[in-house]
Amino acid sequence: MKKSLILISTSLILLSGCHMAQDPSQSDDSPHAEQTLHEQLADLPDAKTTDWELILINPTHPLPNDYEKNTQYQEADGEPMDARIVDAYLEMKAAAQKAGYTLHLGSAYRSVEHQQFNYDWHMNHYMEQGMSEADAKKETEKQIAKPGYSEHHSGLALDIVDEEWFKSHDDPYIPEYDTQDSQHWLVEHAPEYGFILRYLKGKENETGTGYESWHFRYVGVENAKYIAAHQLTLEKYLELLAEKE
Ligand SMILES: [Zn+2]
Repeated sequence: MKKSLILISTSLILLSGCHMAQDPSQSDDSPHAEQTLHEQLADLPDAKTTDWELILINPTHPLPNDYEKNTQYQEADGEPMDARIVDAYLEMKAAAQKAGYTLHLGSAYRSVEHQQFNYDWHMNHYMEQGMSEADAKKETEKQIAKPGYSEHHSGLALDIVDEEWFKSHDDPYIPEYDTQDSQHWLVEHAPEYGFILRYLKGKENETGTGYESWHFRYVGVENAKYIAAHQLTLEKYLELLAEKE
């Protein structure tokens, strides 16, 4: 049976700045890129698209309405996150410390309500500066996801930099954080704890979101290892799992 992937992702709208230069570590020249779809499907982890840790929230998939009230959030490092990922985060943090990097957790769970507040604040700010409502919306959505469409609502996304970088930058959440050894350590080792770098450079048309060198997403250890080894986005990984189902 001939199978074809549904390329839903190509129609996604880019939300923030494009960084089209390819990172050599994420280029398509790896042996995995030559793998046929059939081969990729054969060694997929035993996971389902409906698994809790694989929930997709992106510009075309909002958080389900009842998600927040059915999720238990728990604080770690002063930030609430999905209670089920607290241990994984703390273990990763301890391992980073052992390697010489003190991690700084910026933002984890953000409620839809909080996002709405931020969103409205930005809209008002730009309109007070004389922008039309349409322009203010455009400018606002360059910086923050529409309420309901941020992966942070799930409590499975963590913005992480290192303490030194955090203290020396007014805005530490910038692509250039990827010049730091701590970021390289995270990209390499986060999958061992179930986390992936979520918004890859050069894959903006799949994720619908600009490159973010600091935004990590919990997907479970087996999924994370597979996704990282094959340099996939979560969107692409879910398409592969759907092919198998
Ligand atoms: Zn983030």
